[in-house]
Amino acid sequence: MKAEKIWMDGKMVDWDKAQVHVCTHALHYGSGVFEGIRAYETESGTAVFRLKEHIDRLFNSGKILKMVIPYSKEEFRQAVKDTIKANKLKSGYIRPLIYRGFKELGVSPFKCPVNCTIAVWEWGAYLGEEALAQGIKTKISSYARIYINSTSQKAKICGNYVNSIFAKMEAIEAGVDEAILLDTNGYVTEGSGENVFWIRDGVIYTTPTATVLEGITRDSIITIANDMGYQVQEKYICRDELYISDEVFFSGTAAEVTPIREIDNYQIGEGKRGPITENIQKKFFDIAKGKEDKYLTWLDYI
Ligand code: PMP
Repeated sequence: MKAEKIWMDGKMVDWDKAQVHVCTHALHYGSGVFEGIRAYETESGTAVFRLKEHIDRLFNSGKILKMVIPYSKEEFRQAVKDTIKANKLKSGYIRPLIYRGFKELGVSPFKCPVNCTIAVWEWGAYLGEEALAQGIKTKISSYARIYINSTSQKAKICGNYVNSIFAKMEAIEAGVDEAILLDTNGYVTEGSGENVFWIRDGVIYTTPTATVLEGITRDSIITIANDMGYQVQEKYICRDELYISDEVFFSGTAAEVTPIREIDNYQIGEGKRGPITENIQKKFFDIAKGKEDKYLTWLDYI
């Protein structure tokens, strides 16, 4: 993973020189907020998928963590596009990060500056190409999703991801691809970096957003599925409802639409990508690659 330039506080810096001080507040306490965005190659050039919504969520995350961001949303949006151009990126991943830098170390972030960076790089399927076609194996994590009053689920805060790291390490060491976390009451929440959908008798379900990140792919899928004529409902469920679902899949910027073929050694449906998942996945990729006029407003061309 490497590209040429990284945008740092308004300047394009060589990839290898994009460094921070070891006393950076965020390095010690996780006091940063970030985004994960994808750009796709289309017939009319590179397009960023739902850039506006990602920048809105980034700024909301900053607001929740009480950061005064020294750029407007429009400036940030332009900086994302400039970074893509500077790296001649055709398709890949975009990682804006706004973090508390170095002034003094102590838990209070208020005296530390708010620094901003944007990195981009070429990136294929997060869980592998085969995962998109065949589905992945998952397990219910022994780690509960962070309790709703412990931090914020609406904000994509760096420190929150220690919870995801524990769940992901446990999943990998157990020989599966990804974890599904329950909340402290035992209700299904999400993956370490993905929202979860399940399908029973033709109806598509997903979790309400109170206990999970408001995924932008999740929102896209709800819109796409409704437009395709599927019924979509939000529902709190326990793990066993996933075991007996006809199809289960993850959604996320990195994971895109990844079918789940196994959870805790239970085969899901036929043990492969299900037909509704396949329909939605195909539509999602067609939209992201600019092949569906109806959704062109979701694309920001470079
Ligand atoms: N949940 C978590 C915990 C995530 O990190 C992500 C990735 N940002 C998602 C869900 C999916 O969100 P999105 O579709 O906006 O990428």
